Amino acid sequence: MFELFYHPIYTYGIDKNSTFPRDRYKMIKNYLDEQKIIINFQKPNLAKFEDIILGHQEKYVTSFIHGLLTEKEKRRIGLQPWNEHIVNRTRYILGGSIGAMKSAIERNNIAGNMAGGTHHAHFSYGSGYCIFNDLAICAFKSIKDYKNINKVLIIDLDVHQGDGTASILKNHRNIFTFSMHCENNFPLKKMKSDLDVPLTKGMKDNQYLDILQKNIKTLKKPKFDLVLFQAGVDILNKDSLGYLEISREGIKNRNEIVLEFARERDLPLVVFMGGGYSKPIQHSVDAFVDLFIQCSNYANIIN
Ligand SMILES: [Zn+2]
Repeated sequence: MFELFYHPIYTYGIDKNSTFPRDRYKMIKNYLDEQKIIINFQKPNLAKFEDIILGHQEKYVTSFIHGLLTEKEKRRIGLQPWNEHIVNRTRYILGGSIGAMKSAIERNNIAGNMAGGTHHAHFSYGSGYCIFNDLAICAFKSIKDYKNINKVLIIDLDVHQGDGTASILKNHRNIFTFSMHCENNFPLKKMKSDLDVPLTKGMKDNQYLDILQKNIKTLKKPKFDLVLFQAGVDILNKDSLGYLEISREGIKNRNEIVLEFARERDLPLVVFMGGGYSKPIQHSVDAFVDLFIQCSNYANIIN
């Protein structure tokens, strides 16, 4: 069964006056419950300090946890105004990602976090709604804790480049970073992933899916042991922060390509939510619901 980590703090940990579409988490959860989608929901644990510093500078982690970041550092992250839950929200989201990583490896199946994919968080600072980089931390922790995990592949298909992930992991040859994103978009300064595929503004389904297929086929070597999938839906034509023109159906096809990649190789797969900022937010919610239904079906097939 598909194990999906979720905590109500994903929503209430963001202030109601923030412009960030915080309701998306609870809307997705409600819909999946109403439709009785077969999902084993799991409550995350708070991420431990020792795990957070696998991917970050201790000084930055301590400053954030103790509320000592400067206004400038907070502005770079966004999500303002911050309420009293922001620290626990951040630690629960990372805990959800770590929980999903463990679940996927130990059951050799698919698991996910209904948040996370915080790929703009760098070693010593946060940025673009991202505070701790769960992709990098999960990659490090999986190799550290599991003897059978030696090579990790990160597939980042959010519309924005996974700059934080690329910079944290740049000297780690056992973790391969693949980012396919819109070239004219945040972050202004791109970092170097192992494989970057920048796309032109306005790209539509057919071309997008062709390029993805071609590039994913090149990921044959080395032989990977784990896939981390940042499944941002801000490539959607209705997104307010993306500049691609991918349809809801196109995103489902994209997801299928990644699921198929893991299925063919019998690899554990962890799904992270990533961005989705349509106005109204319902379009992003629909695309995320599609994703989690696909994950649920996938888990049932390979069981
Ligand atoms: Zn994004």
